Amino acid sequence: MSRYSHWAAGWLAASHFKPWLLSRLICHHAFTLFLPDRHAHPAFFSSRSRIMNTLEQIRAMLQAYPMEVAFPDIRRWQRGTAGVDYVHAFDSGVPGPHVMIMALTHGNEVSGAIAVDQLLRAELRPLKGRVTLGFANVEAYHRFDRNNPDATRFIDEDLNRVWSASRLDSGDDTVELRRARELRPIVESVDFLLDLHSMHEEAPPLLLSGPLQKGIRFAAEIGAPEHVIVDAGHANGRRMRDYGSFGDATSPKNALLIESGQHFSLRSRDVALDAASRFLLKTGVVAATQLNSFLTQDRTLSQQFFEVTQPIVADTTDFEFTQDFRGLELIERAGTVIARDGEREIFTPYDNCVIIMPSLRHLAPGVTVMRLAKVLDDK
Ligand SMILES: [Zn+2]
Repeated sequence: MSRYSHWAAGWLAASHFKPWLLSRLICHHAFTLFLPDRHAHPAFFSSRSRIMNTLEQIRAMLQAYPMEVAFPDIRRWQRGTAGVDYVHAFDSGVPGPHVMIMALTHGNEVSGAIAVDQLLRAELRPLKGRVTLGFANVEAYHRFDRNNPDATRFIDEDLNRVWSASRLDSGDDTVELRRARELRPIVESVDFLLDLHSMHEEAPPLLLSGPLQKGIRFAAEIGAPEHVIVDAGHANGRRMRDYGSFGDATSPKNALLIESGQHFSLRSRDVALDAASRFLLKTGVVAATQLNSFLTQDRTLSQQFFEVTQPIVADTTDFEFTQDFRGLELIERAGTVIARDGEREIFTPYDNCVIIMPSLRHLAPGVTVMRLAKVLDDK
């Protein structure tokens, strides 16, 4: 079975199946251009008369996803280790690495919260080294409103853009900076980090390795999910997974970020738990007997790596994709118009261009609305 059809079989078995998705998968496999049903999502193909949309108007035009999972009450985990709320460390007393699983770097990404809640309930005890389980942006999580599910990604600013000494040491004061400063000494002591995320749109899970060879190797060692994104992060602020020694090619410290799927799907929950368990097993700190029940995804026999070459950043709120992109579409020809931003047309810059994490749910001038990637044959 090919990589795509292998993935497709799993996807079809999940509850999210939609006919257009299958047509796109087949197109992926054949390396042809996906042509969506124009009647399915007319807002994407509306006339150019749309100007100065509000974010609420844009979100109202996008597909609403069902809330398949319940948000766990994580207040029971508030009292953390070493005085840091919502962070729990378990030390074996035996030499070994410090391994951390972080959830809720973005406040509405509930699959990670479910995974860490489950791992805490499982009372994991490390064989060696130290395991730390944490919830990052709990303030945003506690403000989640199911009637406005995109609103609580963060409160003041994106917690995954503040991880540089210049921001952390600055005099700036935001909810997210305050939390990052609490988490900073813990994150700095971590040898191996897995940061659990999910995506605005329904798409296959992605493992984000960062730009360095050590990250690519680590992603290959974990072995799942199938699609690995090699990327340097964002111009508007550093991610936790790139912070300090994680972003230093000479350091043995390493970090990965997983995008487990659409925020509110059962599948994302399962992928997050599976990925966290694989990560703990790979680092050797927890016995397999404690984690086997969480390994729910088929083992991937081969992974495909994609190298991000550039972000697509919106200049205006009069922005639309030319197709109903959800992620991992492969556009065969350079020069294909993939989006319009006011009067500007945006083209694929090279043949076989892959769309990474497209979404208009946080559209504003200066916001990255998708990234473009090349298939990495020789990683
Ligand atoms: Zn996220």
